[in-house]
Amino acid sequence: MQNNRNQGYPPASTNGQWQQQGYPAAQPQGGQYAGYDNYNQGQYAQQQGGGYPPAQQHSQYPPSAQSAQYPQTQPAQGYSNQGYPAQASGGYPSQAPAQTAQPQPSYGYDSKAPPSGYAQGGYPSGQGGMQQMTSQMGQMNMGGGGAAAPAQGGGRYPGAAPTGAGGGGAYPTPNAQTQPPPPTAVPEYVHVCDPKQIALTAGVLPSQSSTAQRAHVPLGIVIQPLAETESECPVVNFGAVGVVRCKHCRAYMNPYVTWMDGGAHWRCNLCGLMNETPSGYYAALDETGRRTDLAKRAELIHSTVEIVATPHYMIRAPMPCVYFFVFDVSRPSIASGALARACSAAAASLDHLPGGKRTMIGFLSYDSRVHFYALKAGSPPKMTVQSDLEDIFLPEPHGLLVNLAEARECVDSLLELLPSMHQHTTDVEAALGPALEAAHEIMKPIGGKLSVFSSTLPSIGCGRLMNRDDPAKLGKPGEHKLLLSAAEYYKELAFRMSHVQISVDVYLFSRYYTDVATLNDLAKFTGGQTHRFPAYYDTKDGEDLYRLVTHSLTREQGWESVIRVRVGKGYKVTDFFGNFRLRSTDLLTVPCIDSNKAFALQMAVVEKGVESQCLSVQSALLYTTSFGERRIRVHTVCVPVTSFTSHIYTSINSPVVTALLFKQAIARVTSASFDKAREHVRKSVTSLLRSYSYTSGAYSTSQALELPDNLAALPLQCLGMLKHEALRDRNVLSDKRAAVHAYLYPMGLNEVEIAVRPRLLPIESLDGKSMPQELELTAASIDPSQCLVLDDGKSFMILVGNRVDPKWVNTVFEAMDAKSMRLRDLEENSPTELQLVYQVLDSIRTPFHKGTYVIADGTQDAAHFYGALVQDRTMGEQSLDEYMQFILRR
Ligand SMILES: [Zn+2]
Repeated sequence: MQNNRNQGYPPASTNGQWQQQGYPAAQPQGGQYAGYDNYNQGQYAQQQGGGYPPAQQHSQYPPSAQSAQYPQTQPAQGYSNQGYPAQASGGYPSQAPAQTAQPQPSYGYDSKAPPSGYAQGGYPSGQGGMQQMTSQMGQMNMGGGGAAAPAQGGGRYPGAAPTGAGGGGAYPTPNAQTQPPPPTAVPEYVHVCDPKQIALTAGVLPSQSSTAQRAHVPLGIVIQPLAETESECPVVNFGAVGVVRCKHCRAYMNPYVTWMDGGAHWRCNLCGLMNETPSGYYAALDETGRRTDLAKRAELIHSTVEIVATPHYMIRAPMPCVYFFVFDVSRPSIASGALARACSAAAASLDHLPGGKRTMIGFLSYDSRVHFYALKAGSPPKMTVQSDLEDIFLPEPHGLLVNLAEARECVDSLLELLPSMHQHTTDVEAALGPALEAAHEIMKPIGGKLSVFSSTLPSIGCGRLMNRDDPAKLGKPGEHKLLLSAAEYYKELAFRMSHVQISVDVYLFSRYYTDVATLNDLAKFTGGQTHRFPAYYDTKDGEDLYRLVTHSLTREQGWESVIRVRVGKGYKVTDFFGNFRLRSTDLLTVPCIDSNKAFALQMAVVEKGVESQCLSVQSALLYTTSFGERRIRVHTVCVPVTSFTSHIYTSINSPVVTALLFKQAIARVTSASFDKAREHVRKSVTSLLRSYSYTSGAYSTSQALELPDNLAALPLQCLGMLKHEALRDRNVLSDKRAAVHAYLYPMGLNEVEIAVRPRLLPIESLDGKSMPQELELTAASIDPSQCLVLDDGKSFMILVGNRVDPKWVNTVFEAMDAKSMRLRDLEENSPTELQLVYQVLDSIRTPFHKGTYVIADGTQDAAHFYGALVQDRTMGEQSLDEYMQFILRR
């Protein structure tokens, strides 16, 4: 969380300078993956840094030395063990759960106090500023451990464990004196997973379905397998022994298996089956029952490892990195500057694409026709135009997808020339479908990442779409139907793409309706993502598009991947959320996976419940790295189970709960309706907090509800979801709504968290040494002599108070006309005041930010700013005060 909340990015420069500026300024040479194979036990344990983290750097792979011949084979399947057999009743040692529930902690939330008083009552409202933020992050890291969240420090529960940045103690231990803690799930020598990569909704789970029903805790997991972390992932090579897995459920060897018979057998922690130890993997046990070779076996110490896959896991040689581009060259695309900017971003990324010498590249463009570009070393790019859209065929057998290094000059020249080649066009049609069919045809022997840039609603050929927008339906019962796909075509094409390992990123620029909901099917079922820049205009959006495209192309990527998650006996996975195609019942196909992609899984307790003391969850991502190795990234989480709801409540990880509920709600919009989606969020959080209030005694005594630190943000997160434009009951145009869904649905905890609970920072009196203190999301925080920035992860909204020093205002902003202002561009000799504002914005800016809006308080536009203060009564929903009282209402 820390990193993404403060993701560093090369300082923004002026619009004019961007194009000349080499990208990316902050790239480390060699990158953090240079030492990928050197697993370092000591480093891996360091997970929680306090304070203000340094700017995050992009990982960069060393160029691959491999140059494998690339066979044109059938679509990769790769995963040879698809069957996930029913779990047998295995004899997992059962132990008695912890005993006796006791009185709950008293954390003073005073619902009668004015909003600004929450901080005193321990409500994490932002008064604590950075400290507060860090504390919340700490919570997340702790709880997020989900994975043995409580055991972050090495398997020691309860909250006495050092919390690092958590400081405030995400796990209050009020009962430590009177109530035995839940059993420990993690041996002290084990390094748990980084919660940035895998986290459960609670670090202690209900053992029985009756407990789950009583606790009302949403059960689920959020997995972001390639999320950037501070530590390197240990690499395990089982060599001749082969990858050691459970014979029954196919779980991978991990630190939580139990060794028996002097090391001759091991019991699987997922299904309970007793497995024979392969002779090449045998080691004797010491007097404590631990393997004597423990220190040498990363997979027995680290909960996250990357296993080198044997040929058994491949049906073809690992694919090279393939980047393919489809550009819209119609009049609107030229006129807005979108094409020129997309080309310059692609050109600037070429030196930083992961994949080294094997990287391949290709281009197409379209208007009312499809243009092919043959690339050949030593010659200029050769364009061939096809106007028969019914029967697209490839004009050249070679040269449409080429090795980047070999054809580099030709590629550079094409990207430079492309905008001018079409600059006089008057064509306003868009044959997107035929262009995508052609791209599919060219890419299908290998697969890869397809980036599609579109400025117009597809108008001719296959996949043409009609304007079906109907603002009259907004706010009406059938509104959600505007968010259903209008045509099966794109979903069907996405399935074909996924089948041949193609993933699609879609960039949309139209100022008119573009049917984002339908076009997003391309990304949704292929592991890609859709980004929309409504009414793209280069001076307004150019830098943001450039930043986003370069990030999307150069971030850590995995290829031809599948994910399978196994859960231990007593639980089952009941639903999946994210951008993937579901193959068989539980195999997620994700042709390209990157560091930003997350997947949420919903779980349920099965009838019998968990018979053992803990529950394990194991996620396995089988993929090809950008440097051409087939790997299996395995995350194993093991948490205690209990029949006491109080244990569960103190281990709840609110950001994971929020992310799960939000993704479920987004899915529910299209499967049911907006009302049902909102009801799901409201009911889930209210039931959870109500049952917590029963446990704590607040309900019966009608006292104010006092929440422990780890639950304290949940009411506001609930309101933030209900008021968010993804779900709210207020007019949001369907394209905008679909774009918000498309953005958040595949994103991780950080992006969801900041979206539902934006950050509010004063920026008028900066000292350049520390970050300004985060303020509560209420109008009471607004001081007319201050200038505030509200960051929702998507844009910056700056409110200029009526009494801010006019000299300062004039230094930082420039007037556009009588009513509007904009942030001045940062130049070399810019005044310190402006530099300090940029310093703050750049430190919290992510590649996904689009737009900085400056609003003078008192103007009509200020309503947008006030509407985002989710702690107040806004968007027709309750204020935080009202909601807290509502929870306790009988
Ligand atoms: Zn098993």
